[in-house]
Amino acid sequence: MQASFQDGGKIWTCAIAGRLLRGRQVQVRVAVIGDRVRFKEEPSSQGLHGVIQEILPRDNQISRPAPSGGRRQYQEQVVIANLDRLWIIASLADPALNLIFVDRILAAASHQGVDCGLVLNKVDLKKAADPAPVRALYGSLGYPVQLCSALEGQGIEELRKALSRGIGAFVGLSGVGKSSLIAALEPGLKLRTSRVAEKSRQGRHTTSTSRLFPLSCGGYLADTPGMREFGLWGMARLDLAACFVEFRTHEEGCRFRDCLHDHEPDCAVRAAVERGEVDAGRYRSYLGLLEKLPASLGDWRDRRN
Ligand code: GDP
Ligand code: ZN
Repeated sequence: MQASFQDGGKIWTCAIAGRLLRGRQVQVRVAVIGDRVRFKEEPSSQGLHGVIQEILPRDNQISRPAPSGGRRQYQEQVVIANLDRLWIIASLADPALNLIFVDRILAAASHQGVDCGLVLNKVDLKKAADPAPVRALYGSLGYPVQLCSALEGQGIEELRKALSRGIGAFVGLSGVGKSSLIAALEPGLKLRTSRVAEKSRQGRHTTSTSRLFPLSCGGYLADTPGMREFGLWGMARLDLAACFVEFRTHEEGCRFRDCLHDHEPDCAVRAAVERGEVDAGRYRSYLGLLEKLPASLGDWRDRRN
């Protein structure tokens, strides 16, 4: 296992100390992109070499389910650590704005302790949905919202500023403009396209490595194939409500402590939806996601989302 590190312009190629690998299964990576590590210099005639001695505690991590064993079993595979912000890219048209997708990613990120932001792309299109209510809603929930046109350049400077510190990553449905935004932000930077991923899914074996791309504005943009499978993995039904920030002020008023805010009597969250204090669309997203989650974590063995 090898990893490269940029250290003020210098790149160190490091192996991982054997004792950190002991007892691990091959597919579980010990160090992932975004990890902060301590390493020791190793004499080498070619470039800068080192051995990683310690992986420092992570602020957060995003993982995906990795197949494990012959039966339909999955284990957690971390794909990135210490992400500063995950940007959910959505388009206002072509494809139509999909807030259920946005809410699913927001919930999954919240569960993994990752801050999110929302990019509404394709503002230039005549048939674009009105971004004002979307911006107001998600802004009121505490998420930064950026309107953009990758094609005409609106919002690109602001997005660049938002990406100028720490590690950012993009996630979004196919066709919303992720590659176009990256090209507008950083001309010349080539990240994997979704086409490559589709080919590899059809059986072509590619060992896809993850990378952090330094941006000229200062931050890093993560390119990791695992982001495509980013979902509600490892969550049970009772975990979901905590991922909807606006439920928190109401759920103390529910009759049952383990209220799922679905059909339970005297549910304060549902009452808040009826009064218009909680957005009805967000509540619908919640119910849709709830339905897909297992009652307990043990049930993840047989399902994926
Ligand atoms: P990705 O699948 O998310 O990487 O999406 P792409 O960047 O490949 O974009 C999909 C299509 O949308 C392409 O035809 C782009 O030219 C187009 N597109 C991307 N951004 C914009 C935008 O801001 N405005 C308009 N009108 N089209 C865009
Ligand atoms: Zn309730």
